[in-house]
Amino acid sequence: MPYTAPNPTGRPVAVVGAGTLGRRIALMFATDGGEVRIYDPSAEQLAAARTYVEEQLPAVAARIGGEGPGAVAVTGDLAEALRGAWLVIEAVPERPELKERVFADLDRHADPDAILGSNSSSYPTSRFVEWVREPERLVNIHFYMPPTQNAVDVMSSGRTDRAVIDLLLAELPRHGVFPFEARRESTGFIFNRIWAAIKRESLAVVAEGVATAEEVDAMWSVNTGLRGGPFRAMDQVGLDVVLDIEEHYAAERPSLPTGPRILLEEYVTSGRLGVKTGRGFYDYGAGSDSTPRPRSGGRSTSAEGAAVA
Ligand code: NAD
Repeated sequence: MPYTAPNPTGRPVAVVGAGTLGRRIALMFATDGGEVRIYDPSAEQLAAARTYVEEQLPAVAARIGGEGPGAVAVTGDLAEALRGAWLVIEAVPERPELKERVFADLDRHADPDAILGSNSSSYPTSRFVEWVREPERLVNIHFYMPPTQNAVDVMSSGRTDRAVIDLLLAELPRHGVFPFEARRESTGFIFNRIWAAIKRESLAVVAEGVATAEEVDAMWSVNTGLRGGPFRAMDQVGLDVVLDIEEHYAAERPSLPTGPRILLEEYVTSGRLGVKTGRGFYDYGAGSDSTPRPRSGGRSTSAEGAAVA
């Protein structure tokens, strides 16, 4: 029987993976009165995700102004999480072999019409088509950092049913997020690619000794009116993660300059990974929050910043 896209009415959304992104994705789908189920093999992660959603949901749902807070359930039973769901979003670690296995499981246990979405930052779902029986329902749905950064990239697996993409473009805004379709396969989708260029050129400016990281961030703030800056954002994401991402781009486009990666490698090999190790382009001090202290007399800027990976 040919695949038919689902009718979401009255059906839950399932999120697979309760980490940084999974719990945030669940939060957004819970803002409009619906039911959301989160699956994770780790009881600890499930408990943390539940606490996170419970704390955030009232204010975020009020801001979005839909039908109000919905019901969020957490479970260590995958089949239970998926039962009846119209949409399943995987947010498991960025390891393709793991995602292949997860998609094979989702294909087996999800309702036959359920959309299977991947929140992967860098793997197109074309990579997973052979792990599902119906690639028509497989699609990239890439969130940034909700509830503060609410753009979403939607991208075909190359085989995705057009009705699936149209349904997502219509449904996602009801949950306080703003979908944009990547109209061709693109590593980094839309905004991540643009942000990659900003990061790369910022790193080149520092690697060449043109300006310090603090100066680049300060100039970013003065000229854009936005708080934060590329270096503070990279510190928040983690410089090891930033390096992995840049290496992925470079593997696809060998002409990219090496200076930015060499600078990142210096920080990573010396253990300065950013906020998570207390030191990156900025010093954060032992046991501190993410308030940066410039290392060498640079100008201090505000603690809040964008953290697009
Ligand atoms: P994370 O490490 O915070 O969370 C991953 C979760 O997956 C953990 O709770 C882990 O217990 C769980 N998990 C492991 N194996 C599983 C399995 N077989 N089934 C279900 N859950 C499993 O990772 P994250 O930062 O939330 O990233 C998840 C995905 O989201 C990745 O693909 C990443 O590229 C993408 N993403 C991350 C960001 C970001 O800034 N962190 C932004 C956009 C997209």
